[in-house]
Amino acid sequence: MFENLQDKLNKAIKTLKGQGRITEINVAATIKEVRRALTDADVNYKVAKDITDRIRDKALDRKVLISVEPGQLFVKIVQEELTELMGGEAQGINIKGDPAVMLIAGLQGSGKTTFSGKLAAYLKKQGRTVLLVAADIYRPAAIDQLKVLGEQVGVEVYSEPDNKNAVEIALNGIAQARKTGKKVVIVDTAGRLAIDEVMMQEIEDLKRAISPSETLFVVDSMTGQDAVNTAKTFNERLNFDGVVLTKLDGDARGGAALSIKTVVNKPIKFISTGEKMEALDVFYPDRMASRILG
Ligand code: GDP
Repeated sequence: MFENLQDKLNKAIKTLKGQGRITEINVAATIKEVRRALTDADVNYKVAKDITDRIRDKALDRKVLISVEPGQLFVKIVQEELTELMGGEAQGINIKGDPAVMLIAGLQGSGKTTFSGKLAAYLKKQGRTVLLVAADIYRPAAIDQLKVLGEQVGVEVYSEPDNKNAVEIALNGIAQARKTGKKVVIVDTAGRLAIDEVMMQEIEDLKRAISPSETLFVVDSMTGQDAVNTAKTFNERLNFDGVVLTKLDGDARGGAALSIKTVVNKPIKFISTGEKMEALDVFYPDRMASRILG
């Protein structure tokens, strides 16, 4: 995960680590390399500039300058700033209501349906009763895909193959959950290949109709800066609660993970690292920062 970024950051920091003393001159050189490592990893330019400015200011603090191991302190500063950049504390999801409703949104191919299955398995493991609802009215195959996943994780799937009204399907699903005593409903929605007005209006209407306690936006981390831009557009319309970053097992460069929180001001809540139902992790900014620093 993020090997390139990891490599470049470590190279940048290494020169400083070897020095017995930190001076304004060698900090400036390192900062420049750290910034380049971040922008090369597709981190939004302003985000990269802001974080490196903060790292520089902290590194030039008197305490660091006169410390015995300034290099170590520098690494600690970078670690803290990366953690902060990704949101600081881990953020859980809101599970409220009877049943609690989770709305899953994102572009087609982002990994929504796969994530819906994983979330169902995750919540089931916590002892909750779950119903998956297939509200993708454009891709009949999506219903079958969700059914297969539901079967794999042992969670029932509600669908209405002949109904083209996503709001109706979702509301009927919620009613079904209530009738059968399920405590959580996960609504998997339709995604298009690109953002378009009809799709945005639909998902907005759906959200208004079903009042989810948690709306999660799923995005493919491999799409770099596009991931951040798509997140911004979805957030303007949906005001979602959190982000799910998928395909982190691929060769994503890290830009989305590092920029989304600052640009969109919504936390990453889960990361998906594979096609298997177990490949889901709660997102911990500090752990990710440690990982990035190797
Ligand atoms: P949707 O159109 O948003 O519902 O996307 P899908 O859930 O159908 O996922 C699209 C493709 O990406 C499928 O082939 C999934 O198996 C794959 N996929 C989903 N999440 C991940 C992930 O975290 N890692 C990898 N490698 N593949 C994933």
